Amino acid sequence: MKRKVLVMLLLNCTVVLFVGCSSSNTTINSSEKEWATTEASKHAEKSGHVDYDDQADWEFTSGKMQSPIDIIGDKTEKMTPDNGTITLDYSKDITSVENNGHSIQVTGGGQAIINGRNFELSQFHFHAESEHTVDGEHYPIEAHFVNMSQDGRIAVIGVFFTEGTENKGFQEVLDDVNKEKPEPIKNLNDMIPTNKSYYHYLGSLTTPPLTENVEWYVMKNNIEVSPEQIESFKKLYSHNNRDIQPLNGRAIIEHNE
Ligand SMILES: [Zn+2]
Repeated sequence: MKRKVLVMLLLNCTVVLFVGCSSSNTTINSSEKEWATTEASKHAEKSGHVDYDDQADWEFTSGKMQSPIDIIGDKTEKMTPDNGTITLDYSKDITSVENNGHSIQVTGGGQAIINGRNFELSQFHFHAESEHTVDGEHYPIEAHFVNMSQDGRIAVIGVFFTEGTENKGFQEVLDDVNKEKPEPIKNLNDMIPTNKSYYHYLGSLTTPPLTENVEWYVMKNNIEVSPEQIESFKKLYSHNNRDIQPLNGRAIIEHNE
């Protein structure tokens, strides 16, 4: 009987100790939470600044459908039925060409009809080297044409630039960066392949706030730019591409023209 009481007392003691311990854990957890919130708000404050050497810091806001990804050719599936035509009517009215600190960004209007839905071109910009890879391979530059629908859906058309002959449209962009008043880009369509076959998947913006549910259309056909043009762009931005993100079981759909 005495023994039982002792055991009970010990058990009670353990419970008290355990509770004591867990409550101090709670204190640690809440201060950790506080720390995370402070870090997140600090991060939000500096969201205008994109630091490509500190990408782990971006993960406060990212989920499981992030971009860019590696497009593995033999893991894609054909679009069925394939009615995913893209029709572009990008106007020549460029309102601004600016060096925004992390890329050259061109703001202008124009329409895109993707899979029968209407989008407006809001801006386009460039990354070096490419953000998406195909079978693990990067391209020297990737252009992103960012389109938005009336209800706020974002569709980005990605175009890989390869080394070849000079591109008139891209030269106009490079020339415009140094001008106080940008001139309209006459050869914008030189930066978009005529054959608009693409890889499509659902991803995110590749700069903070890394918003998800962005429709990606990565063109299969590339555009040529000269080695000098690649160098000119790299002088401004040599490393403004986000790291490849895990696919996490997402489908990559192929549209062929
Ligand atoms: Zn981009």
